Amino acid sequence: MKLHLNDTFNQQLPADSNASNTRRQVFDAAFSFVSPRVPSHPNLLHVADEVAELLGISQAETQSLDFLNLVSGSSVYPDSKPYAMAYAGHQFGNWAGQLGDGRAINLFEILHNNQRWTLQLKGAGETPYSRTADGFAVLRSSIREHLCSEAMYYLGVPTTRSLSLVTTGDKVLRDVLYNGNAAYEDGAVVCRVAPSFIRFGNFQLFAARKDIKNLKTLADYTIQYFYPEITTSGKEKYLQFYQEVVNRTVEMVLDWQRVGFVHGVMNTDNMSILGLTIDYGPYGWLEDYDPDWTPNTTDAEGRRYRFRNQPDIALWNLVQLGNALYPLIEDIASMEQVLNSYSQQFDSQFPILQQQKLGLQAEYDAHFQDELTTLLTASETDMTIFYRNLANLVKTDTSDEALAKITLAFYQPDKIVTTLKTSWLNWMELYLEKIKAEVGSDEERKQAMNTINPKYVLRNYMAQLAIEAAEKEDYTLIDELYTLLKNPYEEQPQYEKWFAKRPDWARHKVGCSMLSCSS
Ligand code: AMP
Ligand code: MG
Repeated sequence: MKLHLNDTFNQQLPADSNASNTRRQVFDAAFSFVSPRVPSHPNLLHVADEVAELLGISQAETQSLDFLNLVSGSSVYPDSKPYAMAYAGHQFGNWAGQLGDGRAINLFEILHNNQRWTLQLKGAGETPYSRTADGFAVLRSSIREHLCSEAMYYLGVPTTRSLSLVTTGDKVLRDVLYNGNAAYEDGAVVCRVAPSFIRFGNFQLFAARKDIKNLKTLADYTIQYFYPEITTSGKEKYLQFYQEVVNRTVEMVLDWQRVGFVHGVMNTDNMSILGLTIDYGPYGWLEDYDPDWTPNTTDAEGRRYRFRNQPDIALWNLVQLGNALYPLIEDIASMEQVLNSYSQQFDSQFPILQQQKLGLQAEYDAHFQDELTTLLTASETDMTIFYRNLANLVKTDTSDEALAKITLAFYQPDKIVTTLKTSWLNWMELYLEKIKAEVGSDEERKQAMNTINPKYVLRNYMAQLAIEAAEKEDYTLIDELYTLLKNPYEEQPQYEKWFAKRPDWARHKVGCSMLSCSS
C-alpha cells in the first residue's frame, strides 16, 4: 500500500522538545511526538470504502494486513512521525486549561487529488495529554463515531470522516454511568480523517499562555493550508480568518438544527477551526421533538448543550475564539462586527431554512412557525417522520386528511384529542392555505422538501442495536446502517423498517435516550 504522505503540521509547527510519553503540561509546542499503542489482537470490523478512495487506498488494499496495521496502530507507516496535538478549552463554560489529544494520535497527512487529509487514530493509547484517563476508546462509542461521521457527511453536514473501525483485542475499564459500576469492555480504534483536526482550543492554548509567537505561527499555518482564499495581510488577514471561521460555523450549526442533531459536548476544544462537526461523544438525534433535550447525562442539570441552545453556544464559543485571536487583530470594533455577523447570518438564514423544511417559498411567518414548534413539542412528535411525511400533503387535502398523513409521527396518537387536535387542525388549515398559495406543484414541493428533510438518520436506538449485535460479534448491522445512511434522502423500500419511531424499549434506555461522556 503506497500512500502519498505530505506532512505539514508536524513539520511547520513547533514540536514538544520532551520526547517522553508522560502526562504533563507541554509548553512552547503545538504537538508532541507519540506512537500508537500496539493492540494485542486487532480485528477490522468495518471500512468506509469511499473514505479510503479519497485517500487513494483501493478496496483491495483495505483488506490487506498493511491496512489493518495502519488503522489499528500496530505499525507506524514508513517515514511518518505520529503526534498528539496540544490544545486547551472551555468545558461547560469553564476554563479548563491544557487539554490536548488525550486519546487521539495523528498518523500523517496525505495529499491525494490535490486534497489534504490527516489520518488520526482515536483510542490508540495514552499521550502526554491523557491527564487522568487511559487513552483508549470502547467499542460502543467507536461504532457511534464511525457510523455518525459518515451519516452526517451524507446528510450534507460538514464533518470529520471515519475511515475504519477496529477492535483491539484489549479490554478497557469504564464506569458508564459514573455510579461505581465499572466493567471491562472491548477496546476499539477509529481512524478519523479530516483536512485538519485543529480546534478553537489550539488557539486558546497559546493565547492563554501569552505565547503570541506560536499563536501567530498557528494562525498563519491554518490560513495557508485551509483558508487559501484569504489574501490580505497584517491584522486584516487574521480578522478575515475570524470572519471565515464564523461563516463556516454558522453553516454547520444551521445544518445541525435542520437534521435534528444534538452534539452534546460543545466545549471549545470540540469546535473545529474548519467548521466541521468533530468529536462524536454523547451526541444524539431528536426523535420526539423536544428543543430542551440533550443526550449528555453529564449536562443533565443545566442542559447547556440542549438542542435549541446550540446556535447560541456556537456564538459563545466564537467569542472565546475571538479572545484568543485578539492579540493578532487588536481591533475590538471590527471583531465585534464579525461576531454580530454571526447573529445576522443565523437570523436571516434560519427562517429561510424553516420555510424550506415546510416547502414554502413565501415570506417567513414567525407566529405560524412558533405555533408549529409548540405543537411538535406538546404532542411528542417524531421530527424526522413529521417533516418527511408533511411532504406528502397535497393542495386538495382537507385539514383532517392532512393531519392523518402525519399521524405516524406521533408517539401517542390517541393523545391527539380535544384542544390539541383542534390546534393541529387549525395549523393544518393554515398550512394548506400556504401551500395553495405557492406556485409550484405538489410534486415539486415534495421533491424540494425531500432534499432538505432526511428520511433516514442514525436514530439513537439504531446505533444501540448495532452496538449490541457487535458485542456478540455480529457486525452485519454496522454494515447495513452504513449502507442505509449513505442515501439518507432517498426512498429505500428495502430499509423502510428504519423509517420508524424510537421503539418503547429505547425510551429511557442508556445508550438511546441518555449517554455519558464515558467512552
Ligand atoms: P471530550 O470528551 O472530547 O470533551 O474530551 C475532553 C478531553 O479529555 C480531551 O483532551 C480528550 O483528549 C480527553 N479524553 C477524553 N477521553 C479520554 C480517554 N479515554 N483517555 C485520555 N484522554 C481522554
Ligand atoms: Mg474532544
